[in-house]
Amino acid sequence: MKHRLHSRRGFLGAAGAGLAGWIATPPAAAAGDQNPDLMVVNARVYTVDARVPKAEAFAVQAGRFAAVGANAEIRAMSSKGVPVFDAKQMTIVPGFIDCHNHAPGNTLLYEVLVGNPYEVEFVSISSIIDKLRAKARQTPPGMWVEGFFFDDTKVKDNRQLSRRDLDEVSADHPVAVRHRGGHTTFYNSKAFELAGITKDTPNPAGGTFDHDASGELNGRVTDRATAAFNRVGKRPVFSEEQRFERDLNGLAYISKQFVRYGVTSVHHEGGNLAALQQVRAHGDLLHRVSYEANGRALEAMISGGVMTGFGDEWIRFGATSEHTVDGSFSERTMALSTPYPGVVPPYKGNLTTTQDDLNAWVERVHRAGIQVNCHANGDVAIDMYLTAVERAQRLFPRPDARPKITHCTLINDDLVRRIKAAGAVPALFTSYAYYNSDKFVFYGEELMKRCMAFRSLLDAGVPVAAGSDFDPGPFDPRMAIQGMVTRTGWDGKTWGANQRISLEEALRVNTLNGAYNSREEALKGSITPGKLADFVVLADDLFTVAKDRIKNIQIVRTVVGGRTVYQA
Ligand SMILES: [Zn+2]
Repeated sequence: MKHRLHSRRGFLGAAGAGLAGWIATPPAAAAGDQNPDLMVVNARVYTVDARVPKAEAFAVQAGRFAAVGANAEIRAMSSKGVPVFDAKQMTIVPGFIDCHNHAPGNTLLYEVLVGNPYEVEFVSISSIIDKLRAKARQTPPGMWVEGFFFDDTKVKDNRQLSRRDLDEVSADHPVAVRHRGGHTTFYNSKAFELAGITKDTPNPAGGTFDHDASGELNGRVTDRATAAFNRVGKRPVFSEEQRFERDLNGLAYISKQFVRYGVTSVHHEGGNLAALQQVRAHGDLLHRVSYEANGRALEAMISGGVMTGFGDEWIRFGATSEHTVDGSFSERTMALSTPYPGVVPPYKGNLTTTQDDLNAWVERVHRAGIQVNCHANGDVAIDMYLTAVERAQRLFPRPDARPKITHCTLINDDLVRRIKAAGAVPALFTSYAYYNSDKFVFYGEELMKRCMAFRSLLDAGVPVAAGSDFDPGPFDPRMAIQGMVTRTGWDGKTWGANQRISLEEALRVNTLNGAYNSREEALKGSITPGKLADFVVLADDLFTVAKDRIKNIQIVRTVVGGRTVYQA
């Protein structure tokens, strides 16, 4: 134990030294000493461990929980020099786990943000135009001017952003405003001109160039149709060193944001793996990473024999990145078996792959010993993915493969049965019930009763987890939990109340079930002796505060491996 503790301490020493508050310091005594490094007493501890659901105190040793129990029991372990944290009846829960996050951080740090990444905030179209104009003034003509974190239902003007609006930014620059959902982008006339798209251009497979009532391009482009714009216009060119530097800074930046919200483990959708390791070596990685590989990294895993689970408690290869089967829930392009209510001509969303291609992809990854993970929102997409999974498991059985379903938004009874039978691990949208309640009118109550179906899936015994999908969704677990237990949004509207879950369940979804999702349930996700000492101190009791105030509970302290990584 002692040896391992020293090696970990050495690795993170630099960061530890700079952090305020108590830090789990290695015991000063000689080898074999079993004293705790830290004791926490007088807390309302919700452990998410069914054997001991509530406790008053716990001890941490070598970065792990050593004992959990009553104040007197833990105090009895005391010896001189062990720091004791008196929680003064504050609430402590396991660190939150986000199972789906696009987390490079570079956008937050370097790009023009035309919406609020973290909270519900309405912006005006003129503010978007102003920000992009300022950017255009510093940008050579012909080069892209882009805005990020746009949300089409958080616009004060109460109308769609249009091509004409973006023409006001510049006639000399291609302009793009990217929806935070990632599946739709709004372009100006210059961008359409460069891409060679006119009002008569037919839609490609899996995407659309949208038109207004008079048949003109309105500027909105969905899913695969955006590819036409990626090939044209000039973009900034960075040297290898510059790119790496930006990736380092972006990851270090977002790591600070995660722990500020009590998130201690995050499943990263790809990103610069070398930079991630460097950020850790610098002591700037404050959260734990389940790295979900795509592209070259996934190919290297397959060819090099690297399977899910390889790595350590800070950076570990998890499932693959989401392999996309259909469009977006928030941007209303997910693949439905019935047409979208009220849309003319009838529209059933976008599929972005075929069953044959999907079967082949799933089979190849599954056979390589890697946990498969597909983005499937609509019932049609979930059905296709399950078909591919069932086929792969039949041809090449592997016990407990835990195929991951990212989003898994619209279910029906048959799909739930198949999800359970396949041992699949869905990661549903977390903050959407609160944040995106303004979009559910596009689906209507009947469909919303089957969307983000935490209740149905838990009732079927499926260990459903939480996946914020940041950038698309805010990753604040308090917002997530409030939405899961109330199904009521920022606008006071409630959708699909039949899918409400209890607070206890919502806490488990955001902690232990997240650990299960990446096959790490023996290592983290609950306050249990032997598990990693990742926990969050909350100013108010999650279980007694009014349900519509959960998202306002202050995060007082975030601790990872016994070390304070955030303090209010
Ligand atoms: Zn995603």
